[in-house]
Amino acid sequence: MTGQKDQNRMKYYSLRHQSPLVDFRTATITGQAPDGGLYFPETIPKFLPGFLRELRGLSKATVAFNVMRPYVGTTIGEDDLRRICAEAVDFAFPLVPVGEKVASLELFHGPTLAFKDVGARFMSRCLGYFAQRGDTPPVTVLVATSGDTGGAVASGFLGVPGVEVVLLYPSGKVSPVQEQQLTTLGQNITALEVQGTFDDCQALVKQAFQDQELAEKRFLTSANSINVARWLPQQLYYCFALQQWPEGATPPVVSVPSGNFGNICAGLLARASGLPLGHFIAACNANEPVPAYLRTGTFTPRPAVPTFSNAMDVGNPSNFARILELFDNDLAKMRAALGADTVSDADTVATIQRVWNEHGYLLDPHGAVAYAALRRYQAQHPEAAGMILATAHPVKFPNVVEPVLGRAIELPEVVQALQGRAKRSVPLAVDYEALKACLL
Ligand SMILES: *Cc1c(COP(=O)(O)O)cnc(C)c1O
Repeated sequence: MTGQKDQNRMKYYSLRHQSPLVDFRTATITGQAPDGGLYFPETIPKFLPGFLRELRGLSKATVAFNVMRPYVGTTIGEDDLRRICAEAVDFAFPLVPVGEKVASLELFHGPTLAFKDVGARFMSRCLGYFAQRGDTPPVTVLVATSGDTGGAVASGFLGVPGVEVVLLYPSGKVSPVQEQQLTTLGQNITALEVQGTFDDCQALVKQAFQDQELAEKRFLTSANSINVARWLPQQLYYCFALQQWPEGATPPVVSVPSGNFGNICAGLLARASGLPLGHFIAACNANEPVPAYLRTGTFTPRPAVPTFSNAMDVGNPSNFARILELFDNDLAKMRAALGADTVSDADTVATIQRVWNEHGYLLDPHGAVAYAALRRYQAQHPEAAGMILATAHPVKFPNVVEPVLGRAIELPEVVQALQGRAKRSVPLAVDYEALKACLL
């Protein structure tokens, strides 16, 4: 059985329309189209009625294979794709009730306690597959991280043959758990500890991608949600949620903590493929170009402002272009499926406090933004049952969460295992020539 109509020849086009169509393999190893546009699937596959009927009884690995098969096409053989899918979703995704009419889809039970684990694991194994078959020269994945992305990418790519990973992170500006996740793995993972800010890291990476001389010597690719191999598997969260949603109930309203809008865009894609999901809410912090767009119809990127939900501190969300495409650039169509809300730091902390006091459930700041936005929606739509996507484990944000609890959070096993491992990082000044020397 396949979940969707056969789409063996799925092609991807650039949203800037100045580049040739490519298959999944090329989209994955290059990340972005040569014209600087994001890749988008040429057709949106439809789930077959049988797949949706049987969804509840299928294993996660089977669901993953069925959802990803049409997007991957023939670029990866069936047995390999089945293995890659099984490994990418090899942990729990529980849907936990939090009071009445709210459930929390916990996406933080992967190896780095962040939802980015699924996309990073899927992408790393695809790249490893292409590299091992000699389809590509040895690849260097170059990533600037403010914390979560780097950890998920490092863990996902650890030990993948033919792939080197170089991470840039701002010294002293990631949490202790995050730094351990970045710096203690070794093998094919190199952590560069930059004596500057996250923006400095990002600027250095950007310069490296534009360096022609470097491109001739090193095949560089990125591993953020621009890459289709990281973006598309995020549809799976929504399938796993529906496997656990009460049978026969109205489809859930879905509140997604959003930064670069990759996750919510994947959910909207799954919905466009026929997955029975209700209204979507883009839950944002003070960085709100998308909520402003939905209010006014004008999109104005702004410099990011720092908040407690720092993985969402994005002033110009890269996947917004994909959301526009999904709704044919039609604002009315977008508003019919997607709302947005902005939650302040004060409301984020108050929400963590209230949910802990009333339900004994501990949210992280990102999940709290989603929860607050869902409750506001439900104040207007009292009949609507919904779910939030809990994107990170609260232990990653002790400075926000521990004052609410009044004590330290117990470290989960995967984090305990990192304790006492030697930190290995290479100090790097904010100096492009120094980075280039490192890469060569
Ligand atoms: C990356 C991240 C987000 C934002 O996801 P996007 O796909 O960029 O919108 C939300 N929460 C956490 C914890 C994250 O790490």
